[in-house]
Amino acid sequence: MADGMAGGASSLAATEAFKALMGEGASPGAWIGSRIVPGTGSPVTLTDPATGAEILAYAEAGAEGAARAAAAAEAGSRAWAALTPPARGRALWAWGERVAGASEPLARLEAAVSGKPVRDCLREAAAVADMLRYWAGWTDKFEGRVVPVPTTHHVTVRHEPHGVILAITPWNAPLFTAGWNVAPILAAGNACILKPSEFTPLTSLAFAKLALEAGVPEGVVTVVPGTGPVTGAALLAAPEVAQVVFVGSPEAGAVIGASAARRGIPAVLELGGKSANIVFDDADLGRAAAGAQAAIFAGCGQSCVAGSRLLVQRSVHARLVEAVAEGAARIRLGHPLDPETEMGPIANARQHAKVTGMVAEGLAAGARLVAGGVAPPGLPDGGFWLAPTLLADVSPAMAIARDEVFGPVLAALPFDTEEEAIALANATRFGLAGAVWTADVGRAHRVAARVKAGTFWVNGYRSIHVSVPFGGFGASGIGRSSGVEALAAYTLTLAVWI
Ligand code: NAD
Repeated sequence: MADGMAGGASSLAATEAFKALMGEGASPGAWIGSRIVPGTGSPVTLTDPATGAEILAYAEAGAEGAARAAAAAEAGSRAWAALTPPARGRALWAWGERVAGASEPLARLEAAVSGKPVRDCLREAAAVADMLRYWAGWTDKFEGRVVPVPTTHHVTVRHEPHGVILAITPWNAPLFTAGWNVAPILAAGNACILKPSEFTPLTSLAFAKLALEAGVPEGVVTVVPGTGPVTGAALLAAPEVAQVVFVGSPEAGAVIGASAARRGIPAVLELGGKSANIVFDDADLGRAAAGAQAAIFAGCGQSCVAGSRLLVQRSVHARLVEAVAEGAARIRLGHPLDPETEMGPIANARQHAKVTGMVAEGLAAGARLVAGGVAPPGLPDGGFWLAPTLLADVSPAMAIARDEVFGPVLAALPFDTEEEAIALANATRFGLAGAVWTADVGRAHRVAARVKAGTFWVNGYRSIHVSVPFGGFGASGIGRSSGVEALAAYTLTLAVWI
């Protein structure tokens, strides 16, 4: 890995953490069986989001790596199925313990490559350990049933694993998303091929190595770094892959869903959002302002559930917008590896260009800049920085009110009535998440029932847990990747008539 390294704190941190996790002399490639297999495809460069400097380059796995990985995963799925359910549970629990023990280097590696503050990465590593422990308990509890049919038959319904499930993940929370998806796939008895984003493959590799060290058999977790259209598409075409779980943009989700349909394999799609945070004039405005701020600026707005639209009842609109702007100005931006940093840079150049382009377009369309809009002073040149940005006087027809930004940009819109708030909340093609802030419990129930969102909060935002079903409607996706619904999604339902 040292060969491709440029100078700088992130490069150094990434090198040291990668070595600590993967062993001296390890270079990024595909994790197949019990070792790294170097890629044979095109080079991919990882860039330090804080400075724009190169961290390292690796060769993507490509079609050759994908075929090899799929064969290894097929063998892994047989080894995993041969274990008793409690033995699978013990291995998942032990994996959780390993992740908890390695949380420090995992968090540093994640922060250096993704630009996410190390304090957030530490929390996410701890959450992944908990996900594994949670799903460890399910391996012997997803029971079948007997159906009392109107004949003399004895009918049993069984849940059987698919075999090999491909999980394709994005760059915004690589380790967290790996844990979120891989753990229930394994708990349901399947092997998993993980295709992390080409921008952030390193913590996924370390995650897989920890599985092996914890006693998860070879081939049960395979990691194949590379680009979507080349390595991702080759994996999706592999005959061993019996299902795909995709987390990413609606555009790529449409391509992947169509490929899966052509092959006749099921797809769970977890896509983007344009979630509405609705504040009524009877809400606790201090809490609503703090909640709105966290909803959009946590993770630099690069969160699928980001509360990117702030719908505020007109009588309190100006006050709330001012309070959110004041709060945004207090957020500590800084280097992702600084433990004091609350918000880091945008994760990559492509996303930075997209986000700043959408802000410029919003301003050109008549929105008013209340906060941010530029790189904050005192941070390294060349990094993908953008101060927390708040746009007001946004109209529902503007692109900034309808399209996903996936960056630290909040669009504020006023409303007058409950009916109008619900109509505005539902006026996008998405349906991932949302929230209402009100002191009226009846209104909270009415609004929660009528806003199209897979996850909805009352007087809060951002809480999610693997035990609760998560997923979207419309352009936000199909299927659920957590809760007992995930086990149903990751198994075949078989009816046996005796
Ligand atoms: P993206 O769609 O560009 O890429 C996501 C993953 O898909 C990457 O691994 C990429 O390499 C792969 N990919 C892209 N095209 C592919 C193809 N044709 N075949 C196979 N694989 C392909 O998304 P991104 O920019 O990495 O992430 C941002 C998006 O992810 C946002 O829209 C965000 O809302 C969404 N997201 C959704 C959730 C959720 O749970 N709903 C969570 C996080 C992020």
